[in-house]
Amino acid sequence: RTVYVNGDYVPEAEAKISVFDRGFLMADGVYEVTSVLDGKLIDFGGHCKRLARSLSELAMQNPHSDEEWLAIHREMVARNDIVDGMVYLQVTRGNPGDRDFAYPANDVAPTVVLFTQSKPGLAESPAAKTGWKVISVPDIRWGRRDIKTVQLLYPSMGKMAAKQAGADDAWMVEDGFVTEGTSNNAYIVKGNKIITRALSNDILHGITRAAVLRFAAEAQMEIEERNFTIDEAQKADEAFITSASAFVMPVVEIDGAALNGGKVGPVATRLREIYLEEMRKAAI
Ligand code: PLP
Repeated sequence: RTVYVNGDYVPEAEAKISVFDRGFLMADGVYEVTSVLDGKLIDFGGHCKRLARSLSELAMQNPHSDEEWLAIHREMVARNDIVDGMVYLQVTRGNPGDRDFAYPANDVAPTVVLFTQSKPGLAESPAAKTGWKVISVPDIRWGRRDIKTVQLLYPSMGKMAAKQAGADDAWMVEDGFVTEGTSNNAYIVKGNKIITRALSNDILHGITRAAVLRFAAEAQMEIEERNFTIDEAQKADEAFITSASAFVMPVVEIDGAALNGGKVGPVATRLREIYLEEMRKAAI
């Protein structure tokens, strides 16, 4: 496949990054993942906006305008013949030429890398029909989860713990309340009401979350942005998660307790349909 490195589109095997890159040595970098459906980018504007914010929060330069980012993404989709799949984008603080905790001077250019993943039939995922099982794990991540950094070791450990338990993902719990999934935002449903944690530095401000809450409000569903516990979630009518790559994914089991008789519920199913329909229309 063709990858993008600092302005060049090159075969994967020819791509080179310095061992002194701060992304590699210090996880000093941020990323975005944008879904592609029918060759078009889903909610690209949202991802661009969050990228700019993540960079700014870490005092990193944004190497491109939104128009340039869009052109690079489109070029990657075209060169890799992506119909359904993902574009991964990463910006790190670059290569200062040595290892040092202090940030390098501004003349060190950020390192920009993009690659694609082909996922034919992404929107028709069979998992959306059966739902995910989740387990809970303590949330021991750092305090700036609103910045989409490449520090993903703890979420990887959570995903592995889930796999080992025969589940699909882990919901992280802090001070007794669910923060989010390893790579998604978490929700429960009670009647016509959708409950999800409010935005703060404790969770990533999901681009899919923003869109889904907008569509839910338009569909006359009630939205309550507040904390919830695993215990409350286990007694809820339904649960689901959202992310740019899983869209809206129903959750049917939490720490061994089945929701909605272990079946995918109507609210999550409807929200997934609305989300995909609306986002396909707005794709660019
Ligand atoms: N929360 C975390 C920790 C994530 O890593 C992600 C996505 O990667 C999300 C939430 C969902 O965000 P988005 O909907 O923008 O993909």
